[in-house]
Amino acid sequence: MNIAQWLVRAAHDHPQAPALAWGRSVLHHHGNLARHVSAMGAGLWKLGLSPGDRVGLVMRNHPAYWESLLAIWYAGLVAVPIHSQLHPRELAYIFSDAGTPVVIAHPSTLSACEQAAAVCPEVRHVIDVASANYRRLAQVEPMAVVAREPSDLAWLFYTSGTTGRPKGVMLSHHNLRTMCGHYFADVDTIAVRDCVVHAAPMSHGSGLYALPHLAQAACNVVPESGGFDAQELFDLGTHWQGITLFAAPTMLKRLVEAPGDDPFSGLKTLVYGGGPMYVADIQAAMSRFGPRFAQIYGQGESPMSITVSPKAIHQDLHHPRRALRLASVGRAFVGLEVRVMNEQDQQLPVGEIGEVCVRGPVVMQGYWRNPAASAQTLRNGWLHTGDMGCLDKEGFLTLKDRSKDLIISGGSNIYPREVEEVLLLHPDVSEVSVVGHPHPDWGEEVVAFVVLRPQSLTQTAQTLHNLDEHCLQHMARFKRPKHYRVVSQLPKNETGKVLKTELRQLLHV
Ligand code: AMP
Repeated sequence: MNIAQWLVRAAHDHPQAPALAWGRSVLHHHGNLARHVSAMGAGLWKLGLSPGDRVGLVMRNHPAYWESLLAIWYAGLVAVPIHSQLHPRELAYIFSDAGTPVVIAHPSTLSACEQAAAVCPEVRHVIDVASANYRRLAQVEPMAVVAREPSDLAWLFYTSGTTGRPKGVMLSHHNLRTMCGHYFADVDTIAVRDCVVHAAPMSHGSGLYALPHLAQAACNVVPESGGFDAQELFDLGTHWQGITLFAAPTMLKRLVEAPGDDPFSGLKTLVYGGGPMYVADIQAAMSRFGPRFAQIYGQGESPMSITVSPKAIHQDLHHPRRALRLASVGRAFVGLEVRVMNEQDQQLPVGEIGEVCVRGPVVMQGYWRNPAASAQTLRNGWLHTGDMGCLDKEGFLTLKDRSKDLIISGGSNIYPREVEEVLLLHPDVSEVSVVGHPHPDWGEEVVAFVVLRPQSLTQTAQTLHNLDEHCLQHMARFKRPKHYRVVSQLPKNETGKVLKTELRQLLHV
């Protein structure tokens, strides 16, 4: 079974329903999208590709992203969606590791792709989506959708490579189908006239959420800006109905802090995930936009699926453990098992902190051409996520920090997230990230990078003193930051994750 088969079904059942839009304009209904994609698939074959070959996609969010992804699957090929902001050297590494004879690029990424291709003999064609070459792909006789086995690869997802070279996570058609099942079971339902608006990168979670929408013949809407812009989203919210948005916590914060009081009327569900959501921030989001939030915790290796905190949990205002539940990432998706394990791979009891491990049919097939890393990460049949956390007796998982972010000071473990949660309760703090810094006596000491709200910038010394007082009232003395660095913004990657490695480097200069 090929996931592109869902397009054939949508075209059969709902040929006139909107399938792909750019801003407010519908570019394709399902009927003509299926025709277009079936021709593009044949066009890719004419370039000499055959089933199982990889095609790189390096572009900002654009309608051609969705056309290309579908055409790649239709033709039995494997998509390699890559962050659009990578350096040509990083692109070259991925092109040659994945072996991509064809790369599809956007005008904004074309030059980087061409530079990378120049040093990768395996890349034979770089196709700009704004070029005649791209349009010509669809000017051939259409093909039938190519049959695939459940374990055949659909998406080769490159990790961000924070611990060494990026690795290609192998996601099969069956993995992606299972991910959609999880969505329908635990996140939300989708109707034909609903849509997903891609404000977060389509090379990542937002692109994965195109799939449950395809399965229900709903529409994929790409904002004209190709990215995240709060005012543009509010505007789309007056045009489209039944909107789902996938957003990193930092994007949601920008939406909440956007000027005006736009109610974002078309928004049905905002699914957040990809990084820690602080309790103060989700509460602010709910007071501005109401009960429209769900959280997922996942990683490339277990796409969009480890735990989920559905809308019902967010809406359960009077639950005695509400604050703890909001601080958690929810419970395991129905289709998988989550355990917390120690370093010997033994299951830890409720309440103890260890590595979060996952087992189920959504888990990746392994890392591309990297049996050693695959065996290590999938040992004993469990995906070892590298995330630290603990389960409560009802199965709610609270994530601590990744093991490399844990601060050990004077022999005690300090989880940066706990310190960050406390600092964010203070009205002068807009954003914060806490890291450890080597210290001759203590091993490490706690340093907080803070983005202050404008009104407190004129009295920075007093504000920092107040923050220290605030910490003394809310946490053990040894956990409170010994130093503060006031910054105008935190360094983040394309998906909104704070780059703690860069913060640690700042402390060394
Ligand atoms: P990626 O593979 O790039 O999607 O990154 C996955 C990582 O992001 C996970 O291993 C977690 O460390 C983090 N992450 C994902 N979802 C959440 C969440 N809801 N809360 C906290 N961290 C998250």
